[in-house]
Amino acid sequence: MALTPNNTGNGLSDSSYQDILIIDDTADNLRILSSILARVGYQVRKALNWQMAFTACQTQLPDLILLDIMMPEVDGYEICQRFKANVATADIPIIFISALDDIFDKVKAFKIGGVDYITKPFEFAEVIVRVQNQLDLRSAKLEILKLNDRLEERVKQRTIELENTLQKLQREINTSQELQTKLLESALRDNLTSLPNRVLFLNRLEQALNRAKLESDYHFAVLFIDCDRFKNINDSLGHLVGDKLLIAIGERLQTSLSPFDTLARLGGDEFGILLENVSDIEMVTSIAERIINSLNQHFNVSRYQAFVNVSIGINWGNNNYEKPEYLLRDADTAMYRAKALGRGRFHVFDPQMHQEAIQILELENDLRRAVNKQELIVYYQPIISLDTGKIAGFEALVRWQHPLKGLILPTEFIPVAEETGLIHAIDTWVLKTACNQLRIWQNHPVVPKPLHISVNLNAKLFLQPNFLAQIDQIIYETKINPAFLELEITESVIMENNVDVKTTLQELKQRKIKLTMDDFGTGYSSLSYLHNFPLNTLKIDKSFLSLMQKNHENMGLVPAMIGIAHSMGMKAIAEGVETSEQLSQIRELNCNFAQGNLFSVPMEPELMLDLMLAALQW
Ligand code: C2E
Ligand code: MG
Ligand code: MG
Repeated sequence: MALTPNNTGNGLSDSSYQDILIIDDTADNLRILSSILARVGYQVRKALNWQMAFTACQTQLPDLILLDIMMPEVDGYEICQRFKANVATADIPIIFISALDDIFDKVKAFKIGGVDYITKPFEFAEVIVRVQNQLDLRSAKLEILKLNDRLEERVKQRTIELENTLQKLQREINTSQELQTKLLESALRDNLTSLPNRVLFLNRLEQALNRAKLESDYHFAVLFIDCDRFKNINDSLGHLVGDKLLIAIGERLQTSLSPFDTLARLGGDEFGILLENVSDIEMVTSIAERIINSLNQHFNVSRYQAFVNVSIGINWGNNNYEKPEYLLRDADTAMYRAKALGRGRFHVFDPQMHQEAIQILELENDLRRAVNKQELIVYYQPIISLDTGKIAGFEALVRWQHPLKGLILPTEFIPVAEETGLIHAIDTWVLKTACNQLRIWQNHPVVPKPLHISVNLNAKLFLQPNFLAQIDQIIYETKINPAFLELEITESVIMENNVDVKTTLQELKQRKIKLTMDDFGTGYSSLSYLHNFPLNTLKIDKSFLSLMQKNHENMGLVPAMIGIAHSMGMKAIAEGVETSEQLSQIRELNCNFAQGNLFSVPMEPELMLDLMLAALQW
């Protein structure tokens, strides 16, 4: 039966592959021991001395050595030490054999590496158990070593895998970080010019503001730059050229700045500049001047030469500001003022402007409400025929009856209405109201006939596609004879030089509606323009009348203007007649009509009726 060193129930295990080397100089001992061990199935080899043992080990390493202590020449201790000194044999367990009467130094035996000992005469069972134990221990050790190796291998494998995963993870982290940086970068940069955008600009402004709060000698300024009439460039040369021009403007702006300043594109044709470490406002305004001058040089974009004018709003970096947005807002307000003052210039913000801007905003909101709540009213001012001395008609002039501020004149709210687009609703309402009034007066027995009504129409209305349809609708609804309607237009309508506008004016003429050129002389229209349009009347602006009074000798430009009207087959109205002297002067010049406070200021229709009933003659 093959016995194993372990796990067989009888404490023995399969020993057929286990090789035991017995070293003993006594042949009897060798025989007895080998027979005991061979009987339980071990493979046994025998050596009588060191040389034989050494040779046996060279052939095959045994799993266990039984070593006699008392041997001639090389004794057991020495052999043991030699085995232990050799790497190949160091791990082989050695059990010492000794006779009972031998002087056996057990401590030494264990010290030099022995694992056990057996005493002669041999007890069969004891030999088996001790051998078996050591072999078990050895195979357990080997098993542990193997497991260790395997474990180490697995750990190594796992470490490599982990390292790979880690590297992959690191690469992914790097990529996502790069992506994030790029995203962040693009969120703060303007796509077209690659300049900082509004968000980044406001960040920098905030930093400057915080610094100014901490350091009393640190000063900064904000510039808000807007290109004048950039829309014209886009409309005429196309957006691609417009884009290229914006890039070129950005580059040129940069040349006027130091590397410490921040230039940003705030959107559209707007740029912002943060000037840092400036000493005083003069330094800032000279930089603004430099910018305006540098942009005055033409730009070569694609195959075009383009000129750019800018308006610049300057805001001195006051550290009382709570938010950077307010700094920018006020620079923007100053820029609007620069535009209003004639463009192509800079303007420095002062707090009064903010107050005004707020008032305009309030006015804007109130005006929206006013249109809906019918707070607007129409006043009428008579126009006198200088041939008959009678009222020939009225000019309708809008007023705003503000619930808190009282009566507001059109000069105050018409510009706001123009900017917000409310002008369209206002003018159509005034037109309708005035037409209604005309019909009422025309039906009234004492009102002098023929009676005209003049209504001011903003230039923007003429560009509306449904403009004529609206006029027709109003005429239809109010049932007036269009021949008694006069529309007052300004030179800006003609300046549009738009084919559609010209056609619209022709259409009005076909409907017999009269056209008056209002405020004549204050605009820039050339006489040839006037000639091209179907105008009936020129209304000489009141500023020329007042000049005429001061300049009694030559009467200024008024005679020439009346002459122009007549030579073009038009009638002339003198507006702003305030004195009887003026009246007699324009009479002398054969002016056809007169309007002014001398006759009556604009008033409610009821009061105008009283005036007509009084049948005043001038
Ligand atoms: P405008 O069309 O030239 O109207 C004449 C302005 O001169 C009126 O001012 C009138 O009150 C004023 N005026 C008339 N005679 C005299 C005078 O002898 N002396 C002085 N100092 N002023 C005189 P108002 O009513 O304040 O209107 C100002 C401007 O507002 C108008 O000038 C017109 O351009 C605009 N406007 C008035 N109503 C409307 C409207 O319904 N629609 C549009 N789009 N504009 C309107
Ligand atoms: Mg007018
Ligand atoms: Mg006028």
